[in-house]
Amino acid sequence: MRLQIICPKCRGSGAENDNDVVRCSSCGGQGVKLSRRSLGPGFVQQFQTTCEVCNGKGTVSRTKCSKCQGHKVVASERVLDVTVDPGMSDGNTIEFPDAGDEFADKPAGFFCVWFYKFVFSLSLSLSINRAEKQSQEKGG
Ligand SMILES: [Zn+2]
Ligand SMILES: [Zn+2]
Repeated sequence: MRLQIICPKCRGSGAENDNDVVRCSSCGGQGVKLSRRSLGPGFVQQFQTTCEVCNGKGTVSRTKCSKCQGHKVVASERVLDVTVDPGMSDGNTIEFPDAGDEFADKPAGFFCVWFYKFVFSLSLSLSINRAEKQSQEKGG
C-alpha cells in the first residue's frame, strides 16, 4: 500500500540541507505577528496572526529538498503483516498504531480504517474457508 512518510533526506524540514533552514525574517522566528487594529479614537486592538511567510513555524527553508521537492513527505510502499487470530470474529478490529501516513507537522497515526477492515475481513474469510475445508477433509 502507498503511504506518506516523512522525507528521509531532509527529515521533514523540506530543505536540501539543515543549514538552509533559517529563521523567518518576517516574524523574527516567532511564527506569529502582532497586528493592530484601530477600533476608534483611543481604542487599539492588538491581536496575533499566524505568519503567512512561514505558516507559523518560525523557520523558512532557502532551498527545496531534491527528494521531496520541499513537500517534507514522500510516498512510500509499506507492507503490513496482518495476522488473523482464528478466534477473532468479523467485529474485531486490529489496530496499527504506526501504520498511518506521516506528516511533518503531525504525529503519525492517521490510518484508513476501511482499508484494514477490508484486509481483515478478506483474510478472515480466507482462513475460515481453509479451516472449513480441513474439517471437511478430516470428517469425510
Ligand atoms: Zn525532503
Ligand atoms: Zn514567519
